[in-house]
Amino acid sequence: MIINKTKTIGLIGTLALTLQAYSIAGPKEKPLTVAEASGFTATSTHAQVLSFIQDLRRMSPNLKVETMAQTVEGRPVPLLILGRPGPKSPDTFRLGNDPRLIIYIQANIHAGEVEGKEACLMLARDILLDPKLPYLDKLVVLIAPDFNPDGNDKISPANRRQQPGPEKGVGVRPNGQNLDLNRDGMKLETPEVRGLVENVLNRWDPALVVDCHTTNGFYHEEPVTYVGPLNPNGDPQIIEFMRDKMLPAVAGRLEKDYGTLSMPYGDPHDMTDLSKGLETDAYQPRFLTNYVGLRNRLAILDENYVYADYKTRVLACYSFLRAILDDCLQNSQTIKDLVRQADERAAGRFGSAAPSSLFHTSFELQPLPDKITFQGFEQEVTLREGTFPLIKKTDRKKTYTVDYYARVVPKSSVRFPWGYFLTSRDPSLLAILRTHGLTVERLTQPVKAPVESFRTTELRPAERLFQGHWMNKIKGVYASEEREFPAGTLFVTTAQPLGNLAACLLEPESDDGLAVWNFFDRVLVPEWGRSYEPFPVFRVLRPLTMPKETIWRKD
Ligand SMILES: [Zn+2]
Repeated sequence: MIINKTKTIGLIGTLALTLQAYSIAGPKEKPLTVAEASGFTATSTHAQVLSFIQDLRRMSPNLKVETMAQTVEGRPVPLLILGRPGPKSPDTFRLGNDPRLIIYIQANIHAGEVEGKEACLMLARDILLDPKLPYLDKLVVLIAPDFNPDGNDKISPANRRQQPGPEKGVGVRPNGQNLDLNRDGMKLETPEVRGLVENVLNRWDPALVVDCHTTNGFYHEEPVTYVGPLNPNGDPQIIEFMRDKMLPAVAGRLEKDYGTLSMPYGDPHDMTDLSKGLETDAYQPRFLTNYVGLRNRLAILDENYVYADYKTRVLACYSFLRAILDDCLQNSQTIKDLVRQADERAAGRFGSAAPSSLFHTSFELQPLPDKITFQGFEQEVTLREGTFPLIKKTDRKKTYTVDYYARVVPKSSVRFPWGYFLTSRDPSLLAILRTHGLTVERLTQPVKAPVESFRTTELRPAERLFQGHWMNKIKGVYASEEREFPAGTLFVTTAQPLGNLAACLLEPESDDGLAVWNFFDRVLVPEWGRSYEPFPVFRVLRPLTMPKETIWRKD
C-alpha cells in the first residue's frame, strides 16, 4: 500500500528538507521507488531520492552516504557506499588492506534520461536488503542515483517528448549552470563533475565507472546499448578489454540470465540506410567514460533505448547493472590486475616503443574488423527537396549485420614527452591540474633546459558558442630551444599514472585540452598587435635532473 507522508530529515548533516515522499507502509517491507509505486508513470524528485536513501539507511547498516557535490542551486549530490562491512576509508584500498573491487555507478547525468536513476535506487535497495544477491560481501558499490539534481527537479511532461514515459514528465539535460555534465570531463566547470573527480575518482578510485543515459536514436528492439572508452590516448589494453571481452560477456549474461537484449551503442552512419552501419564518434575525453579511460580505469556508457516504454527501460537498465556486477564478481582479480598494469604502462609510456611513444592530436573513425548485428525494422524513406528526408519505421522486423565505426584511428601525432614546463602563473591552471589529481612540481632554482616550444601561428575561435566557450582552433609550429625557466616554474611529468591525462590537458595541439577550452587565451594574445605570446607549455623530450619540489600530489 502506498501512502504519502510529509517528514523532515537532516540528510548527510547538510540539508534539512521537507519532503513529500512516497513510501510503503510497514517498517520491515522494502521501500518502493517512485517508478514502482506510481505504476511506472512518474520519476522521483530529488527530495524523493533523498527520502528513499534515508529509508535504506534506516533499514540497513551496510549503507554509508557521502555528499560528493553541492549543486549551484544548493542541492546535495549523494554518493551511496554499499558494502558489508562498510569500508572504513578509501585508504584501506590504496594500501591493499581491502581486497574488494570498487565499482561506481551514476545516473541521471542528463536528467531527462531518468530510468537509470530509478534502476540505481532499486539496485541499491536490493543489494542491501535482498539476501539472495551476492554482491554486498564481495564488492564495494558506489552509487550516485541522481548526478544532476538541478536538472532533475525541472520535471515536466514537455521534456523529451519523443520518449514514451514516464507520463508525468522528466527533468532537463543541463545542470543548474545550463552546462552539459557529459561535456565537462576536461574543463571541470561544474560542481557535479568536480565532485565526481575529487570525491569519487581521486578519493575512492573505482576500477569501473558506469554512466547511465538514454539514446536519442533510431528504431531497434534491444532496450540496452553500451560502449566502453574510445580515446586512443588512453591505455589500449583497457579499450580492447572492454570492447572485446568484458562488454560482450556482460551482453551474453544480460540475455541469458536476465532475458534482456543489448547491442553496441551507435547512431546510423546514414539515417536513410541502416545497412551502411552504425558509428560512435564521441571519443573525446570531455565525455566522462572516455575521461575515465584516460585515467586507466574501466568505463561503460549505458545508453538505454529511447523508444522502449518507461517500465521496460527501467527494468532493462536494472538488469544491465546486475549483469555488470555479476561479471565484476567473476573477474575481480583480472580487472584489478588490468588497471594496476595500465597505471604502470601509463607512467612508463615515455620512451616506450611506438606507437605508445606518440601523442595523438587528430583522429578518424574506421569500422572495427567484426560487424555487429542488431534487431531492427525496415524503414520507408521519402527524400524531400531542401530538407531532411522523411523516415518512417515499418512493423517489418529485420536483422541487420553491419559495419560498426567505433575504431578511432589517429590521423596526426607528436612525440609523447617526458613532461611539461608551465610558464603561466594563472592560479586557475594549478587549480585544475590539482582537481584532476595530477602530481605537480615546482622548480626550486632556475633551470636552463632543452625543450620544444610551440609557436602559435593561428588561433581562431569556433563560429558558435559551445558550453559557454568559443572553443579554439590552434595552429602552430614546434621549435627546439634551450630556455631558462625561473624558480617557481611549474613542472608536470607524464611519468605518473595520470600521465595520459596530463598530456591530453597540456599538449598544445590536444583536441580537447586546456588550450582549446580557452585556459590560455589571456596568456596567448597580447593587448596589441597580431602576433602571439609564447605558448605557456614547453615540452620536455628527455628526462632531466633538476632542483624541484612536489607541491601537489593526490595520495
Ligand atoms: Zn545522455
